[in-house]
Amino acid sequence: MHFNILTIFPEMFPGTLGGGVVGRALSNGVWSYDAINIRDFAHDNYGSVDDEQFGGGAGQVMRADILGDAIDSIKTRGKIIYFSPRGARLTQKMVREFAADADANYTLLCGRYEGIDQRVIDEYGIMELSIGDYILSGGEIAAQVFVDSVVRVMDNVVGGGADATRNESFEIGGLEWPLYTRPSAWRGRNVPEVLLSGHHGNIERWRKQQSDDLTKQRRPDLIKEK
Ligand code: SAH
Repeated sequence: MHFNILTIFPEMFPGTLGGGVVGRALSNGVWSYDAINIRDFAHDNYGSVDDEQFGGGAGQVMRADILGDAIDSIKTRGKIIYFSPRGARLTQKMVREFAADADANYTLLCGRYEGIDQRVIDEYGIMELSIGDYILSGGEIAAQVFVDSVVRVMDNVVGGGADATRNESFEIGGLEWPLYTRPSAWRGRNVPEVLLSGHHGNIERWRKQQSDDLTKQRRPDLIKEK
């Protein structure tokens, strides 16, 4: 899988994507990326990529001509994604769909300032994706969220087989049950007896119950979605 990342901060990559299982997958060639500096396509010596909004108002907008040249410089673009609070909210189901083709190319456009000129979105039929209902100062963190979540569900990225990424919140139709490890007693708090019993049927039932209760309490919307 290959990601073309359009940004005015190429030094922010791989960033968090260089560590852990996703970083190992980068070294192993499961995925690769090019961080393309949008400023390289500026028309002046300062590398300006933004300008004032038509219609007035505070905040700068990234220019269509410069973004267009930056996008056109990419040979194999695949699906183009612009990270934006206005986009569809990224879900684990969508993550699985993006990860399904191990040879896919994705072009990820990281906005800054107030965002990008609408005509770029229209011209290339760009998909808009949001990572949640809050405003970031730029799309770079969103792009890292996207790459991390997509790469980690690809084959052989997380150890422990396919189950390791299937036994997660949102993958099990709700939230994950409480987790425990050694020591079995800590500051007077004991691990639930059932988990030490070795009785797999009871353990599974307990986990399912805990998961259902938590989901009902915290995320009833997930139950309706099922
Ligand atoms: N004016 C925009 C917000 C701009 S924030 C609006 O009101 O919708 C600057 C950039 O950060 C955006 O262009 C986008 O690329 C990125 N960004 C901010 N919040 C985001 C979110 N929740 N999800 C994805 N990208 C986001």
